[in-house]
Amino acid sequence: MVLCRSGRVLLDGARVASADLKVALEPGLAARLTVDGAALDPLPGLVLAMNKPLGVTCSHGDAGPLVYDLLPERWRRRDPPLSSAGRLDKDTSGLLLFTDDGALLHRIISPRSETTKRYRATLAEPLRPDAAAVLATGTLVLRGEDRPLLPAHLVLETPTLAVVTVAEGRYHQVRRMFAALGNRVVDLHRDRIGALDLPGDLGAGQWRPLSGAEVAAAL
Ligand code: URA
Repeated sequence: MVLCRSGRVLLDGARVASADLKVALEPGLAARLTVDGAALDPLPGLVLAMNKPLGVTCSHGDAGPLVYDLLPERWRRRDPPLSSAGRLDKDTSGLLLFTDDGALLHRIISPRSETTKRYRATLAEPLRPDAAAVLATGTLVLRGEDRPLLPAHLVLETPTLAVVTVAEGRYHQVRRMFAALGNRVVDLHRDRIGALDLPGDLGAGQWRPLSGAEVAAAL
């Protein structure tokens, strides 16, 4: 109340004179409400897209740098907590989502999830010509496993640049898939999850909240 009376609270740039003002709780509201010029933290239901840079780890615990170090420090204490939806290896870059929405998290990372992930893999050697056909059959077995991979879709942009779309998230899956095809990934970048492309406005290490419409349309 005191903050409002002293003119320190703005909604869409206009002074909020009374603490009794009723506004709809909707995604994006926190960014429109400022106190002393700083936006409020986003409400629960937050979904962030990050362009994960190389060299940072997707974990809470390991020695840094961690992806969480790229977010505001106080967000580590959010309730419900904000988690990455799956992980990318330290030496993989690209689209990483974070959310505090348990149902959405489950939809993206569950082994039965139909949310596909697309990767651009630069390979050490030209890929064998039957690779796309082999991956499409769903018969490829990774080293140390018994259960074949689900069918994956592969497009070769050049003999050593493969764009592969997978429907599951096994440990180091893409690197191990190409190893099982007699090759080696030298660079790996995720550019799509579900129907969501890595937003073009995000440079390496940058992130932004997704709008409710973006989430509804793509995930
Ligand atoms: N597959 C991998 O091998 N690494 C990743 O980071 C993601 C998928």
